Amino acid sequence: MTNRARKPYIAGNWKMNLDRLKSLDLVKTIKGRLGDGNDREVAIFVPAIYLADVTAVAQGSPLGCGGQNIWHESNGAFTGELAPRMLREVGADRVLIGHSERRHVFQEPDEWMGRKLRAALDADLLPIYCVGETLDERKGHKTERVLKRQLEAGFEKVAAVDAHRITVAYEPVWAIGTGETATSEQVDQAHRSIRKWLVQRLGDEAANLVRILYGGSVKPDNARELMAIESVDGLLVGGASLQAETFLPILEYDKR
Ligand code: PEP
Repeated sequence: MTNRARKPYIAGNWKMNLDRLKSLDLVKTIKGRLGDGNDREVAIFVPAIYLADVTAVAQGSPLGCGGQNIWHESNGAFTGELAPRMLREVGADRVLIGHSERRHVFQEPDEWMGRKLRAALDADLLPIYCVGETLDERKGHKTERVLKRQLEAGFEKVAAVDAHRITVAYEPVWAIGTGETATSEQVDQAHRSIRKWLVQRLGDEAANLVRILYGGSVKPDNARELMAIESVDGLLVGGASLQAETFLPILEYDKR
């Protein structure tokens, strides 16, 4: 657990859950438990409608607050969408891009990913770019090919100088919200293939700045074991990030 190359990063994705009061309660509790933020980075990805209120509470603490999606343009006739600058304006400092629910429920294609990642960086938002294979793709031994395709699309407009601002989250679709976690071997293998691709694409030095998180049914019971995998730099947590009782032990995975 010591000698980590990169600062651990634990992020909660609230998806379309909680309400305004519960969101404010939860952010207050998380903020109260964070130290100075030197030993780990913690962030929550909040329904956009609550972002202004949540970021106001988080202000002055090391807690990062982000949106769950963006469109890549900064203005225009895009009903229902949010520009990166709008998230910035309400205090967000980061954003999820390509979450599996965006890809698979809302059919967002690979071709959008590069533009979204670039737009996030240009608006000074820190992106977490999510990648991961479906169960059929895993069963068909296509995991590495799928990850490569998604990485190529997302990093299309990214340069080595951007690397330190980008995080990749490996989230096997079959492990999200299902209670099924990938095995340590599966996680390690996927993370290593992502790291290898990053090195080829960005060069050693820049690639080593990119953190790779694991996401998919992370719980207080498995957080420590997942964080013990050398290739895992952090965790992206969905369901278990909705309650302090389950999210705090994950943040403090190394303190029990
Ligand atoms: C997620 O939303 O990114 C996620 C990993 O969800 P869960 O932890 O509920 O599987």
